[in-house]
Amino acid sequence: MMARFLVTGGAGFIGSAVVRHLIEDTPHEVCVLDKLTYAGNLDNLEPVAKNPRYRFKQVDICDRAAVATLIASYQPRIIMHLAAESHVDRSIDGPAAFIETNLVGTFTLLEAARCFWQDLPGEEKAAFRFHHVSTDEVFGSLGADGFFQETTAYQPNSPYSASKAGSDHLVRAWGHTYGLPTVTSNCSNNYGPYHFPEKLIPLMILNALEGKPLPVYGNGQNIRDWLYVEDHARALVAIALAGRPGESYNVGGWNERANIDVVQAVCALVDEMAPDAAIGPREKLITFVTDRPGHDARYAIDATKIKQDLGWTPRETFETGLRKTVRWYLDHPEWWQRIRSGLYRGERLGALGGE
Ligand code: NAD
Repeated sequence: MMARFLVTGGAGFIGSAVVRHLIEDTPHEVCVLDKLTYAGNLDNLEPVAKNPRYRFKQVDICDRAAVATLIASYQPRIIMHLAAESHVDRSIDGPAAFIETNLVGTFTLLEAARCFWQDLPGEEKAAFRFHHVSTDEVFGSLGADGFFQETTAYQPNSPYSASKAGSDHLVRAWGHTYGLPTVTSNCSNNYGPYHFPEKLIPLMILNALEGKPLPVYGNGQNIRDWLYVEDHARALVAIALAGRPGESYNVGGWNERANIDVVQAVCALVDEMAPDAAIGPREKLITFVTDRPGHDARYAIDATKIKQDLGWTPRETFETGLRKTVRWYLDHPEWWQRIRSGLYRGERLGALGGE
């Protein structure tokens, strides 16, 4: 049966993958609510822009009146909340925007959703879902062993993860106190097409292609658990439609890799797909730089619950997903050149390379 989704942050990396999946592979309707910050890009939604089941509204989630008006006019069955400030390095340099969007914005959206939901007739009230999309970084850092489970205690270490942890708690409280049917998911690091080129994997692909230095934090031994973004998009839709209210679901692809191994794998793929004699082997471009303050050592997700309860499993291995990703960046220079030129939204990108 067709459901109507309101997707906040739908012009970003993961949100746009969800919207493309919903429009291209399902019968559902989607309205994107997005402020279009530096990370929001309507080019990401261009493949679905003309579909009559898709619409877009430029709104800030901190603007209570605008959010309430949009929810009242669109009448969504599902609000999927991805709008956030999402880059750890930016949160260290300027945490204020993270508190404003991730905490105040989530609170504002929850209140607007609650007002709308409490006046719905019985059946629609029970079917309504507020799906909050979060990160595994709320759990802190792991040692050499173990995995993050849904029951793992929260121990956020960066301003970004602290703001996301706070938003998870708000969502939980709105479910517990007011009975709003909420569900939360915590996912590992995503990669794939349309990934903004300040993040580790796209930055490495593009720098390798252009023969520029490949900055790697510290000794490169920090471990992240990688998931192809389209696998995450399918997981999110499954959770929104079939997740149990009050529950949280961990999402991950069982793909732990040290950052240095990720960068070396990117180098090998770029060498294979775009050999350049003037540049030579890309591995020699790797440059170790001063570590990020408070850099978490290891993230790893136990995704057993979503597999058992909702039947979701990733389709891509890290090897197949990374190959597709490098191919996509090679085939879509028009997408990243507009950002890379430094003219995108008047912002010039620094040499950030965090995941
Ligand atoms: P992104 O930075 O690519 O996109 C964020 C989007 O939110 C952008 O379109 C931006 O314009 C929009 N936005 C920001 N502030 C807003 C505001 N005040 N009002 C309305 N829209 C606003 O982020 P992403 O990587 O796609 O992440 C999406 C969500 O998933 C975030 O909540 C993030 O915490 C979470 N997450 C990300 C990852 C990852 O690896 N990228 C992993 C797990 C969870």
